[in-house]
Amino acid sequence: MSGAPEAVVVGGGLAGVAAAVAVARAGLRTLHLAPKGPPDRRTSALMGPSVDYLRASGLIDDPAALGHPLTQIRIIDATDRLLRAPETLFDSKDAGLEAFGWNFPNIKLLEAFEAARASLPNLETRELALSSIERGATGWVLTLADGSVVEAPLVVGSDGKKSLVRVATDFRAREHGFTQAALVCDLELGRPLGGASVEFHYPEGPFTLVPAGGSRANLVWIDDREVLKAAQATGQDGLRTTFLEKSQRLFGDIQLLTPAHMFLLSTLTVERAGMDGIVLAGEAAHAFPPIGAQGLNLGLRDVADLAAALAATDRTAPGWANAVSTDYAGRRADDLERTGGMVDALFRSLLSDFLPAQALRAGGLWALRLLPPLRKRAFGLGMGRG
Ligand SMILES: Cc1cc2nc3c(=O)[nH]c(=O)nc-3n(C[C@H](O)[C@H](O)[C@H](O)COP(=O)(O)OP(=O)(O)OC[C@H]3O[C@@H](n4cnc5c(N)ncnc54)[C@H](O)[C@@H]3O)c2cc1C
Repeated sequence: MSGAPEAVVVGGGLAGVAAAVAVARAGLRTLHLAPKGPPDRRTSALMGPSVDYLRASGLIDDPAALGHPLTQIRIIDATDRLLRAPETLFDSKDAGLEAFGWNFPNIKLLEAFEAARASLPNLETRELALSSIERGATGWVLTLADGSVVEAPLVVGSDGKKSLVRVATDFRAREHGFTQAALVCDLELGRPLGGASVEFHYPEGPFTLVPAGGSRANLVWIDDREVLKAAQATGQDGLRTTFLEKSQRLFGDIQLLTPAHMFLLSTLTVERAGMDGIVLAGEAAHAFPPIGAQGLNLGLRDVADLAAALAATDRTAPGWANAVSTDYAGRRADDLERTGGMVDALFRSLLSDFLPAQALRAGGLWALRLLPPLRKRAFGLGMGRG
């Protein structure tokens, strides 16, 4: 890249690399600040529209080379509540789809995104963190971890939940921490899941097995963090016994293929996702518990709207970066509010001990099972189609 950057993208997670590629593809001289972090051992269930976006924007080529299709979602009420929901099976065929989406290892997605980034001559990547950011005379002045300083009119903060960009530039955000956490690891099952993601709904949170090809599965177990810590402390053998119980031995024997990692859960919502030449994307703008697989799906919709805002703005006009951030905030407002509300309601209903919420959930699952039009509407919401 020659010349001063027109945009700096901060953060080298999946949302950050996707955003850097989108900004550079829009023709801006782009600097990407992407310090190397520990490998992200999670997997991401990405819905059909997200996968379509990844292909259309050249971030991935063939999804089958990286991940596994999700064709069914099976929900088992494993509570001992008075009102239990019926076992529910959503089949992608009922929604007129070959698959709901794909389950990808985050490490493989990142490799593919980074390969796409490497092909762009107007994009420079530095493995340096941002140390501070402040308003300058003509744009934002960013000081990097090595003490160097860069200035740019447009900054994309995709630096995760604790975003320095968001905090230092006065965005208003609401945060709420949960006592629950998520434990993830890769498993080998005695009986394969096929294309079905299987969710056992326990009172403290779901225990979900997501297909990872052959007889492999990715586990996401949400529970009180003290319960998860205690389970982790029992070692591989103890965890194996717990997983057998939690899965009700429906899939035969279970072997752990990777160590178990724990993620603390919280929600974060911003009042607006862009202003004054700053755009927030990914978890810098929104964080949820991993219920209904919304986080990265939403992050990719941020990136798609950033590309649309850039395409819609005349970048020869003065104040173009402000115009991009304002346009972006307008495009993101409804989706962020709707998705945040949906995940919050789902999370609270899954954890609720109140009889009315249980009745609603049981009733809701019955309704979804019996009424095809309602099921289509639920799929639409879950897949970001409003
Ligand atoms: C257990 C679990 C399961 C999940 N499953 C799904 C799923 O199935 N489907 C789905 O859609 N979503 C899922 N999610 C959500 C998804 O993983 C996240 O939304 C997504 O990974 C967030 O990506 P990000 O790039 O916004 O943030 P991050 O991955 O947190 O990346 C932020 C990056 O910013 C960098 N950074 C931080 N500070 C600075 C700085 N000062 N300067 C430069 N860089 C900085 C960090 O090093 C990091 O690389 C799941 C989440 C969890 C916890």
